[in-house]
Amino acid sequence: MGIENAASKSIGQTAVVIGAGMGGLMAAAVLSGFFTNVVIIERDELPTQPTLRKGVPQGAHVHTFLGYAVEAMGTLLPGLMEQLYAEGAVKIRRNYDIWFHDASGPTPIRDVGLLTPSVTRPLLEHVTRQRVLAEANVRMVDNTRVMMFETGSDGRVSGIKVKGDSTEVETMSADLVVDCSGRGSRLTGWLEEKGYGAVPTQSLEIAMSYTSGLFRPPPELRDSKWACLMLAIPPALRAAYLTPVDGGYWLATMYGRAGDTAPRDHEGFVDWTRGLAHPCIHERLVKAEPVTKLRSYNIPKGVWRRFDRMDGFPRGVLPLGEVFTSFNPMYGQGISLAAGQALSLRAALQQCIDSGSQTDLATHYFQGCEDLNATGWSVMETRDMAYESTKGDRPASLEERWRMGQAIRLLAESDPEVHTLSVRTTHLLEPPSTLQRPDIVKRAFEMLDAS
Ligand SMILES: Cc1cc2nc3c(=O)[nH]c(=O)nc-3n(C[C@H](O)[C@H](O)[C@H](O)COP(=O)(O)OP(=O)(O)OC[C@H]3O[C@@H](n4cnc5c(N)ncnc54)[C@H](O)[C@@H]3O)c2cc1C
Repeated sequence: MGIENAASKSIGQTAVVIGAGMGGLMAAAVLSGFFTNVVIIERDELPTQPTLRKGVPQGAHVHTFLGYAVEAMGTLLPGLMEQLYAEGAVKIRRNYDIWFHDASGPTPIRDVGLLTPSVTRPLLEHVTRQRVLAEANVRMVDNTRVMMFETGSDGRVSGIKVKGDSTEVETMSADLVVDCSGRGSRLTGWLEEKGYGAVPTQSLEIAMSYTSGLFRPPPELRDSKWACLMLAIPPALRAAYLTPVDGGYWLATMYGRAGDTAPRDHEGFVDWTRGLAHPCIHERLVKAEPVTKLRSYNIPKGVWRRFDRMDGFPRGVLPLGEVFTSFNPMYGQGISLAAGQALSLRAALQQCIDSGSQTDLATHYFQGCEDLNATGWSVMETRDMAYESTKGDRPASLEERWRMGQAIRLLAESDPEVHTLSVRTTHLLEPPSTLQRPDIVKRAFEMLDAS
């Protein structure tokens, strides 16, 4: 899963990005190196300050960074992480400042050499947006909704139809359209309408719900970087994340399954945390002061729209981010997958320049995305299938994956190298095969058999 640099040259006049979420911003950063003009179309009115907005309702909930996102975003937008820290993001040493409880209980507190920012989604988006809009050839059109893409007689994309809040539908020409309009994207419907047929879809019913809010820590804990990510130990269903964020607040997110949603009244919310696997989060929240109202978000399914498996695809249209891969967000993979897709887009555009042909842009792009997307899916499947409330196809290798996971977990307790590799794998920085080294597997299973 190497993160590579690619050179860039001009490949076309105008690229359009649908949606100014994290996926859209990273896509625009890539496209600015290849197109004369890049236009981001966003249906929301974009705030000038870091605040929540309607089109990104997930903005109130924890957005944890995986190591992959840190590296990939640093490659796409050099210096962005430093900008985030300068604006107030909290530097977290993974598995050291943050106490990680997995689905078997607490894991060792050990500095594994991985730093990630703990930041609210509004600040993350604000800083990234400012950074992308500083590119001279990138322009934002907000308060405007994309209604459909247009193709010419050769089947190639020719533009998009847009409608502003107070304007009629108009057409804007484009050489490439990248759809980053999120989970609610209408791309699957548009493709059917244009005669490309149904998009094959892989899904897992996860029945997740989130409830989150900001809290002011008690005075004695205001300087603490202590954070905790606590998964549920099956068959229990409750999980939580408490982390310091910009502004000196704690962001608390409660993850429920199968309808066991944390309430949106403060007292009920704090009381719900008594049902977590360990009391440490409850003990802190009872002493904290609520700052914002509590907000909930339901995620019935994890979905992988297999655009890559369609027989035909219009030339000049690509999906990126949640429209392509909207998995269970509690594993923190969304920004990483979008960043990985943006890097694949960059590599695919470069391949087109090198070969002198753009015919295979989509093929190059989908091939480039395949491994990371598949790893992300496998993480969700392996973890979520451990809960009875999850419904979907059970992969034949599931029991073997769980046994392997248990063996590695046991070895990682006493072996810092294996612990580090295992965290780096979870953070998508190493492929899963890293943990299949014969010496690691042998020692891990010896330990499991002896336990
Ligand atoms: C509850 C929740 C928690 C999450 N937690 C994490 C986490 O911890 N870590 C992590 O890495 N990821 C997390 N994610 C995922 C993360 O939010 C996304 O993967 C990431 O932001 C990329 O999303 P996106 O840009 O594809 O879509 P979005 O962020 O949803 O952005 C889509 C944008 O498109 C706009 N739009 C929609 N339709 C149109 C249209 N027709 N015309 C113009 N504009 C349009 C919307 O207004 C919005 O601005 C979480 C997601 C959810 C739902």
